[in-house]
Amino acid sequence: MSAPIHVHWNGRLVPADEAMVSVFDAGFLYGDGIYETLRIYRGCPFGFDRHWRRLEHGARGVGLSLPARDDVRRGLDELLRADDLPSAVARITITRGRLARRLDLSSAGRPSVLVTAEAIDPGADDARARGVRVVHSSYVRPSDHSLAGVKSTNYQVSLLARNEAREQGAAEVLVPNQHGHVVEAAAANVFVVEGGVLVTPPLRSGILGGITREVVLEVAGDAGLPLRQETLAPERVEAADEVFLTGTTIEVTPVVTIGDRPVAAGRPGPITLDLRRRYRERVDAETRPSGSEAPSDSTR
Ligand code: PMP
Repeated sequence: MSAPIHVHWNGRLVPADEAMVSVFDAGFLYGDGIYETLRIYRGCPFGFDRHWRRLEHGARGVGLSLPARDDVRRGLDELLRADDLPSAVARITITRGRLARRLDLSSAGRPSVLVTAEAIDPGADDARARGVRVVHSSYVRPSDHSLAGVKSTNYQVSLLARNEAREQGAAEVLVPNQHGHVVEAAAANVFVVEGGVLVTPPLRSGILGGITREVVLEVAGDAGLPLRQETLAPERVEAADEVFLTGTTIEVTPVVTIGDRPVAAGRPGPITLDLRRRYRERVDAETRPSGSEAPSDSTR
């Protein structure tokens, strides 16, 4: 990714180096904020309304007031145009803002609102489509934590868990709940395929309700795939016919190795690849500039 040129900061497009956050911002001091990561295709965010709904859900969950949806959308579009970003990952971050008194949320000023976007290389998708390796994490995602389902800027567990992957040369980690069952990855949701049935942990297992997970469940339903929502013992994930991860940036990514062992034949499975194609088709249909035809090769 190349360094961003501009950011949208508290309602204004400014050079990236000029956006400054107060050292008293509760987002900085306590990780008190919420955010969304969106993927930009052909200059258009995929699923903006879904992301905005999740942001509203998070804002209610932590008692944070949001700026107007249309202002944020306009800011994002302005940023994408200014920095010429047809293929990018964008992030909307809202933090509590500056606290006048320590640990006193009633003393908060206005929330800080940041929109950033960075170019991504769509070629990375082809490499990921060949499948990735994951390892088991030593971090735990308890199913009953208070902020379950809130996409909080307090992201330390995911950050440290993802670092375990990096240290072991893996792309991601499988994160267990307090009972040792796999519930998600550091920054993605987890699916397995067992005998033609799609299985993924339920929202009540404390996971983030991923937008990609939601869309994959819809396209899987369209494809008539049977589905079960259950947490997964690690041995069950390792014995599955297929395993894949979902996330805004990584879309549908096959897992071909867990630790030192291949998943089934060690190649992306047919159902994973079919869901990946269907997901891509949905993205293409929803981000196509109005009036243009569907891409002739929708399997790209
Ligand atoms: N779980 C966690 C913990 C995440 O951080 C993410 C990435 N935002 C996801 C799941 C996937 O969510 P989405 O499909 O909305 O990107």
